[in-house]
Amino acid sequence: FPQLKKSVFKDYLEEVKRTRKPAQFEFYYEYYDLWFDESIYPSEDGFSVYYKDITKRKIITQALEEAYKKENEILESISDAFVAVDKEYNFIYFNKKAEELLQIKKEKAIGKNMWELFNYAKGSIAENEYKKSFKNNETRIFDFYNEPLNTWLNIKSFPSKKGLSIYFRDITHEKQQQEELEKLNSDLNEYARKLEESNKELEQFAYIASHDLQEPLRMVSSFMVLLKKKYENQLDDKAQTYINFAVDGTERMRKIIVDLLDFSRAGTEHESLEKLDLNEELAEVLSLLHSSISKKNVDLDIQELPEVYYSKTAIRQLFHNLIGNAIKYSNNNGNPKIEIKWTENKKEFQFEIKDDGIGIDRKHHEKIFQIFQRLHSKSEYSGTGLGLAICKKLVERYRGNIWVKSQLGKGSSFFFTLQKNTHYA
Ligand code: ADP
Repeated sequence: FPQLKKSVFKDYLEEVKRTRKPAQFEFYYEYYDLWFDESIYPSEDGFSVYYKDITKRKIITQALEEAYKKENEILESISDAFVAVDKEYNFIYFNKKAEELLQIKKEKAIGKNMWELFNYAKGSIAENEYKKSFKNNETRIFDFYNEPLNTWLNIKSFPSKKGLSIYFRDITHEKQQQEELEKLNSDLNEYARKLEESNKELEQFAYIASHDLQEPLRMVSSFMVLLKKKYENQLDDKAQTYINFAVDGTERMRKIIVDLLDFSRAGTEHESLEKLDLNEELAEVLSLLHSSISKKNVDLDIQELPEVYYSKTAIRQLFHNLIGNAIKYSNNNGNPKIEIKWTENKKEFQFEIKDDGIGIDRKHHEKIFQIFQRLHSKSEYSGTGLGLAICKKLVERYRGNIWVKSQLGKGSSFFFTLQKNTHYA
């Protein structure tokens, strides 16, 4: 066997010869492309060599090693931290990212028990979840707060043949953001709640004030009327005019109080919602406005209207205020025209009350929906400046909208929407 002359086999042979001690080793015989398990024993007259062909086993282990190396490369390169434990929770794998996140070297972790190494996790959600993962042979995903490291981890636990494969990543930043968002949200809710409360208080105040004002007002006006009746002959013209002014004043005040009461009630009372044929409701409203319609010779153009599910009083008040304004603020050129139209989409109805009256300057389009905002003196047009504020409340009560499109001198179109799903409001 000349090939053995310069080989590891020869080296071992020399060594045994020298030390007189047996040797055992694995040897690759290149000439035959075979692996041998060799044992050399010294004997009195030479050596005894036992050998066994282990090529097959060698090939298999090499392939296995290769596979492990590959798996390691993958596990090391993933951005998640990864550890594997056996069924007794002893670490059998620990990648670099896991070393970083858990601040422990792989050498110190491998072979150690999870609960000894991280005893603070014992009895936590993590233990619970791992147990479930084992027991039900299922993937478990959960967030875990690692107190000593002050980090939040998102953990995925997969059952495997050997035990558990556990992936985790640091979500502390996300958690903080989420907490900040939740805090912001709860602050906002608190703010909305306070606002709602103070609105309610304000409404309550307006209601009580206007309600209580009615009584003394009635007294003033009725005594004025009495004064006028009883002492008419004894009073001069000036006194008569003063009394008339006072009576006028009380009448205007009565109107303001009635409107204020309407405003504080609008949209806050638990009106019952019902199916309404708007054609019928509109006819009712028009009959109330009949005298001013005929006095001004108003030309009405009304589309056939739909059925809605809403509050009857709210609907009547809406149409009454908007059509009333269209008549009141009409041009004095005679024969004003008022159109009532509507469209719809999947979610809502949209109504339009269009006039060809005096119009409104662009800069006042928002202001007019505020309480007591009027663009004219009472001598030009009567009114309290509450009509549109009431309308706004009535439509917003069920998440509708109201707005105006108008140009000074060219007429106005008032739009409002009614949601179709008021059933669930
Ligand atoms: P009021 O009519 O009692 O003054 P509103 O709240 O109904 O109060 O209206 C507020 C203001 O908006 C009115 O004073 C008027 O100047 C303006 N306005 C409302 N409707 C119209 C309209 N159809 N055309 C022109 N101006 C209008």
